[in-house]
Amino acid sequence: MRLTLFRHDRLGLVDGDDLVDVTEQLAGPGPYGPAGPLQRHIERAAEGLTLVPDLGPCPRTPLTEAALEAPLPRPGKIVGAPVNYLDHKAEMEYTTSVADLGIFLKANSSVIGPGQDVVLPYSDKRTDQEGELGVVIGRTASHVTADEALSYVFGYTCLLDITVRSDEDRSTRKSFDTFTPIGPWIVTADEIPDPDTLDLRCDVGGTTRQRTNTADLIFGVRELIAYTSSVMTLHPGDVIATGTPAGVGPLGHGDRVVVEIERIGRLEVGVDGSRGTPYAERPGRASKRAAQD
Ligand code: MN
Repeated sequence: MRLTLFRHDRLGLVDGDDLVDVTEQLAGPGPYGPAGPLQRHIERAAEGLTLVPDLGPCPRTPLTEAALEAPLPRPGKIVGAPVNYLDHKAEMEYTTSVADLGIFLKANSSVIGPGQDVVLPYSDKRTDQEGELGVVIGRTASHVTADEALSYVFGYTCLLDITVRSDEDRSTRKSFDTFTPIGPWIVTADEIPDPDTLDLRCDVGGTTRQRTNTADLIFGVRELIAYTSSVMTLHPGDVIATGTPAGVGPLGHGDRVVVEIERIGRLEVGVDGSRGTPYAERPGRASKRAAQD
């Protein structure tokens, strides 16, 4: 199944060229709160409910006319893998990888959906795209082994881990509002038997910047889930950003960013660089500087 949100709080299933409204069938009765009906569906599935929609009576909208939204607008947490492709490690001249660094967290308030804009926070610091495979957890996972890890996955999505290149801590540089576009839908895990074999491409302004296959991940999806679950309990609906290959680069006002992953889909967002402010003008920085003079 390909599942996403549309029309503020409706859960849609992609069926051919249509989006079918399966909200009540898959998510049960609302209201669904800020996490939305797909989160509710994932939690219900985790409880063991077998949820197979009967599409017959459900309203349909042509996919081309549906304004898709982030499938999970507020995940419980977003875990990121730093330096998880060897070619990206080389381009950034990092001496360490995910194996040394562990994982990081991104704020769950940074999620946006297809067609929305990434807002560049700084007028004088570079902000990069990182095209990544996103993994959505399907049931509570704590200290799971790599061999059993995939049975804890609900599905997969396209994800952009937008990142400022500054000296700020990773969780700051990656947590500005709009910095985690996901979508256009989540493809359930049954359709992707092996997530470590997927072609991934990321284009900015019509130019391909990143091209890889998830086979090149240092920690594959299984190892990443095993490692992460040894640190923190993963809950249904949590999202893991698996890391980015070589080819990260700066975003500019008006850019279109596309990440496309084999068997999953194509996520496109815009870039708004009109609201950036100088790095030194963040709250606190100017007075700190003055105090040191
Ligand atoms: Mn990343």
